[in-house]
Amino acid sequence: MEPGQNRKVAALTFNIYVHFFYERVDNMYEKFMLEAIQEAKIAFSEGEIPIGAVLVYDQKVISRGHNTRIQDSSVLGHAEMNVLKNIAKKTGNWRLNECDLYVTMIPCPMCASAINQARIRRVICGTIPNDTNYSQLIEILSDHKYGNPVEILTGVLEDECSELLKKFFQKKRT
Ligand SMILES: [Zn+2]
Repeated sequence: MEPGQNRKVAALTFNIYVHFFYERVDNMYEKFMLEAIQEAKIAFSEGEIPIGAVLVYDQKVISRGHNTRIQDSSVLGHAEMNVLKNIAKKTGNWRLNECDLYVTMIPCPMCASAINQARIRRVICGTIPNDTNYSQLIEILSDHKYGNPVEILTGVLEDECSELLKKFFQKKRT
């Protein structure tokens, strides 16, 4: 095994805490996920795929964002990217070591890489689409190049997050 590979395996084994389904309800996670859902609802009302995100520092929401891909005519208009853009504008800082990102759907590879580069501490996700390449995401989030690996927690208010998406696509079909 190559030395680099060793490190990667170690990162996956010891440093990343993957919780596919958490059993104990944690009020704090739900409280902030509800804030992300509020953002997703704004996206819904704007005709965008309802995905929302918030950035939390010291138990406070310090940045919010939702999907704006159609409005912006840009693939960069993902909720997570908007959260990162907003906080950078507000603080002039892109290093977010002590911050946790809540997002209603598990990040795509583009956002996962941005989250990793921003050195976010933990990403808390709602729903996971069936076609998610989970191992690829873990690999991106566990990249040591930009600091510590990002912890990931999934399944927080999963039903609420996925219902909103289902409702959106049903409405689109009718
Ligand atoms: Zn994305």
